[in-house]
Amino acid sequence: MGLVVQKYGGSSVSDAEGIKRVAKRIVDAKKNGNQVVVVVSAMGDTTDELIDLAGQVSPIPAGREFDMLLTAGERISMALLAMAIKNLGHEAQSFTGSQAGVITDSVHNKARIIDVTPGRIRTALDEGNIAIVAGFQGVSQDKKDITTLGRGGSDTTAVALAAALDAEVCEIYTDVDGVFTADPRVVTKARKIDWISFEDMLELAASGSKVLLHRCVEYARRYNIPIHVRSSFSGLRGTWVSNEPQGDQKVEHAIISGVAHDVSEAKITVVGVPDKPGEAAAIFRTIANAEVNIDMVVQNVSAASTGLTDISFTLPKAEGRKAIDALERNRGTIGFESLRYDDQIAKISLVGAGMKTNPGVTAAFFEALSDAGVNIELISTSEIRISVVTRADDVIEAVRAVHTAFGLDSDSDEAVVYGGTGR
Ligand code: ADP
Ligand code: ASP
Ligand code: MG
Repeated sequence: MGLVVQKYGGSSVSDAEGIKRVAKRIVDAKKNGNQVVVVVSAMGDTTDELIDLAGQVSPIPAGREFDMLLTAGERISMALLAMAIKNLGHEAQSFTGSQAGVITDSVHNKARIIDVTPGRIRTALDEGNIAIVAGFQGVSQDKKDITTLGRGGSDTTAVALAAALDAEVCEIYTDVDGVFTADPRVVTKARKIDWISFEDMLELAASGSKVLLHRCVEYARRYNIPIHVRSSFSGLRGTWVSNEPQGDQKVEHAIISGVAHDVSEAKITVVGVPDKPGEAAAIFRTIANAEVNIDMVVQNVSAASTGLTDISFTLPKAEGRKAIDALERNRGTIGFESLRYDDQIAKISLVGAGMKTNPGVTAAFFEALSDAGVNIELISTSEIRISVVTRADDVIEAVRAVHTAFGLDSDSDEAVVYGGTGR
């Protein structure tokens, strides 16, 4: 008997009908002779609604209570899903992340999984149950507080459980037919990818393709768990993400795997920083102490007359306030003139292992943006990725232009988006 882990995202369980539809799929997997563990997200946009609600009672809610609040979303869907499965005549039990043995560090709102001890899940399976686990949450090892894994964290719960239970595959069910060459909500001519390497998927996820969370892909690569991303609305085969293609999984020999975009970041410019050793270190130590993750960094050439320079960096919008407050508090010791905060930016990234050996990709990328009249504000690269920051208003046009320029447009069907609000 095989063991499969299936994860259903919020858009797949957005209402009672969705929950009943998903319950049927789960029962089918069980009827096919599998032991089934299901990880479920909060219904629809519940998490966003809870975040909004928290903001109405406190501008900067305490991390511990914020996590306690957000985990309620997944508790609702796990219990309803277990009820719907029982209604179909099959045994199911729901478990919180803590009950399922998801042990994390104690960084609230973005905890990391450090161990998974799924004893209760094993027992539930051995007794013939379908086990339903609340995604996106765990319990901290030292303080025993409830934690959350960061937005989209149910993907990571699913892969972590798949690894701990030695599952054959981790199926991620969502509202599109798989991983596409660009977000199908933006590029209707995006093509579904049959197979993609962990390496390319990691870069796409890190660059904003939220169909899979970056940490989930990292985890899957570390434990070598193949992921199958597919739609919970259609019966179609989706995208396989793994080290090596298996069986009939088609490998595209394209230089570029896809185009990702991200509008969740903001840019902070520290203006008038003395151009001397230790300044950048002081700025980024301050940011690190505030537990804020940064993405791109650019330092301008200093003006010879003043000896002052500007340093810009990007970070998640959700952490903008925290970063600004931390810098302001340390203004005296760091020494800078002012801070500028800009949340009207977008990041566009081109990803593909083939770019290592193909000169001219960067030039073609910049030409496509320039032909579309898009101005570039920041640039960063890795061996298999080029990213630029542009104005948020330009993002859709820029993604489409780059997708077309690299020959990624599909000439057959239009990509289908079955549900969700894209929020
Ligand atoms: P879920 O609720 O299932 O977790 P998400 O909203 O987190 O779903 O992720 C699915 C969404 O990811 C899709 O609806 C799509 O808009 C977006 N997306 C972004 N980039 C891609 C891509 N390259 N391929 C497929 N979907 C993508
Ligand atoms: N419900 C959480 C979120 O919206 C986790 C998830 O869906 O993966 O971010
Ligand atoms: Mg998701």
